[in-house]
Amino acid sequence: MPPIKIPSRKEVIQREKSSGKDVAAIYPIHYPRELFRAFDVHPVEVWGPPGVDTKMGSAHLQSYICSVVQSGLSFYLEGGLKEVKLILVPHCCDSLQGLGSIFKDFVKPGQEVLTLYIPRGITEESVRFLSDEIEKLYKSLARVTGRAPARERLMEEILLEEETDALVKDFYAGRKKTPLSSREFYAIIRAREYLPPRDYARLLQIAPRQSPESGPPGRVGIIVSGLLPEPMEILDVIDEAGGFVVADDLACCMRRVYGKGAAENPFKRMAERIVQGPPDSTKGGSVDEISVSLTGLTEATGARGVIFYNVKFCEPEDFYRPMLKKRLQNKGIKTLTLEADINQPLSQQAITRVRAFIEMLKGEA
Ligand code: SF4
Repeated sequence: MPPIKIPSRKEVIQREKSSGKDVAAIYPIHYPRELFRAFDVHPVEVWGPPGVDTKMGSAHLQSYICSVVQSGLSFYLEGGLKEVKLILVPHCCDSLQGLGSIFKDFVKPGQEVLTLYIPRGITEESVRFLSDEIEKLYKSLARVTGRAPARERLMEEILLEEETDALVKDFYAGRKKTPLSSREFYAIIRAREYLPPRDYARLLQIAPRQSPESGPPGRVGIIVSGLLPEPMEILDVIDEAGGFVVADDLACCMRRVYGKGAAENPFKRMAERIVQGPPDSTKGGSVDEISVSLTGLTEATGARGVIFYNVKFCEPEDFYRPMLKKRLQNKGIKTLTLEADINQPLSQQAITRVRAFIEMLKGEA
């Protein structure tokens, strides 16, 4: 099967700019993509990126700050965001909140830096709070771009994102039948971080869906949980050991596949989608909600084990993991915890542990 050609971030940025759009750099995790699109601002997410020399960023940060933030700041300081008109730093954790303050108070980039407070917990109050935050963001975007999209335009983009979320859910649902390796599957999932929704929908359409077998024969289904699958070699290591990633609980992937909103008010509808989306440590989901979600995912996909793939110094995930591991183990679900730095290659020790974990799961079949 010939590999699918996915355009690079750089290509997409150039194309969007030459079509007259502004580009915004978006730091992790949750934000309303549709709001930016309604302003003709193309959002491109900055999850690190991995492989950046973090010396420049580390001059501003404590050594115990995660590599996502270390890389994100270094990338900016190295000139990696020259092309963008504005920067959004959602306040999804203390480290990102700190990054927003460093940008605004110390680095003072030429571009506008906007923030967005993400509330904790799934309550009506959280929806109201986030709806107000999104409305404030609307006003900031109107000031920066000089545009003021009407309600109809906002709703058009919201509905398009809702459709895209439904397509992504469908793509995940067919995972066991796709002939794609774990790396290929997640390259497609993660292209949503920078592709416009219609291009992304086309990519999902041309991605191979069906193979004669239901799941790669003899392979062990694995769920990966954490922030992001970086370094992505982890996916190759899982496949080479005889596993395949059948689903995930990753903040950059499945945790951002939101459902439909119900409100007529576009700000409230965008807020509903985020607040009521899959449970997530950075949205203050309860241990019950997250463990029920992980257990349900394991049962629905027939996965035999969960790999917690954690970014070193990621406090939100570190807080939940011991309790989640216990809950899953009580249900008979085997777990493995690995720690990674997105700028470092996967350690030999981590590779050996993945191999041993999958061997153990195979032995139990
Ligand atoms: S890896 Fe964890 S600590 Fe770092 S930015 Fe993401 S949520 Fe925050």
